[in-house]
Amino acid sequence: MECLKCGAKNREIARFCDNCGANMSGELAESVQLERPRLHSLMKLDWLLRFISMAILGSALFIVSLLWDMSGFALLFLCIGGIGWAFTLYMLSHR
Ligand SMILES: [Zn+2]
Repeated sequence: MECLKCGAKNREIARFCDNCGANMSGELAESVQLERPRLHSLMKLDWLLRFISMAILGSALFIVSLLWDMSGFALLFLCIGGIGWAFTLYMLSHR
């Protein structure tokens, strides 16, 4: 299926053009497109909450495993917490 706007080839079932994002299938897709920004911000919030819990949980478990002298786990949780904080900061600064 070819895009009417830019002529790029897309999968037959595609609702939107992979290349330019244009609507591929008439009126049905139009209402879906209107819902997109709202859905997008909801998904963003969803991921932000996931990363925040990952950051907090990772840091907490890092401290616990340090206290219990389990250095192997401490390193693992340090990585998890670090990635969590990094993504949290990234998402907060790229709203
Ligand atoms: Zn296109």
